[in-house]
Amino acid sequence: MTAKILDGKSIAAKIRQKIKQQVQARIDNGLRPPGLAVVLVGNDSASQIYVRNKRNACEEVGIISSFIELAATISQVELLAQLDKLNANPNVDGILVQLPLPKHIESNLIIEHILPHKDVDGFHPYNVGRLTLHIPLLHSCTSKGVVTLLKHTGISLAGLDAVVIGQSSIVGRPVTLELLEANCTVTGCHIYTRNLAEKVRNADIVVAAVGKANLVRGDWIKPGAIVIDVGINRIADGSLVGDVEFAEAIKNASWITPVPGGVGPMTVASLMENTLEAANMESCKF
Ligand code: NAD
Repeated sequence: MTAKILDGKSIAAKIRQKIKQQVQARIDNGLRPPGLAVVLVGNDSASQIYVRNKRNACEEVGIISSFIELAATISQVELLAQLDKLNANPNVDGILVQLPLPKHIESNLIIEHILPHKDVDGFHPYNVGRLTLHIPLLHSCTSKGVVTLLKHTGISLAGLDAVVIGQSSIVGRPVTLELLEANCTVTGCHIYTRNLAEKVRNADIVVAAVGKANLVRGDWIKPGAIVIDVGINRIADGSLVGDVEFAEAIKNASWITPVPGGVGPMTVASLMENTLEAANMESCKF
């Protein structure tokens, strides 16, 4: 068997096209275009690239993005004050603070300061809490992208055994919650997990979100399993690879995401969906 490729790049392009039409429909109905504020603290080069991709996507779909670039030395109090202004701005539907933040700033405090209905990254405890209570509001972007890719296979997810490797707050944990929400039976694996290979061998769905090249060996993949590789790793020759040994895993899986061009573009497309959704929340109940 050779797996079919879950082409995140083209699926994300179709989602952006749909969002563009929906943004235009808002405008045709006399509403303003959605607004996204992107806050970047410091000059981390990877963060600069991510922010640029997000702003380009906004431009493509017609979302008005504002870019707030702040020095790495900004104090926590000053950053909170910036967020107060964005929370109060009626033209800003979504606020995204690019992570990671400098060490002297407590990320959790910053995330919790964003109004939950403007939290288009879906990281606020309110939004994560709602997901755990089966009443999701704004979903976190990468995990939403993972679920969109899984749905694209056309395979019914209910009852499938899923293994999520990595349990960070921004990727692994939200993916675990989303898959529970999709009625999968989910095993959440992490650095302390014993017999990882054995767990992966039993999985119908494998989501790898660790950040270690080739951690998941191709021969661990159960024949017919769906493999979603969230990891992004730069290897010695300068190229980007995921966490899964792609060349071998493709021989066993039914569907597999490439890296790059799998989950990455879906994360940005999900952000566009969330920003439109936030703008469409007419009467907010907070
Ligand atoms: P993180 O370092 O915060 O978390 C890594 C997780 O992996 C932890 O839960 C840790 O316990 C677990 N882990 C570490 N070693 C392990 C091992 N040997 N076996 C099992 N589990 C192990 O990382 P993160 O922020 O969640 O990111 C994970 C990867 O996903 C990175 O490569 C990152 O670049 C990528 N990422 C991709 C996107 C995207 O849009 N494609 C978005 C965010 C992150």
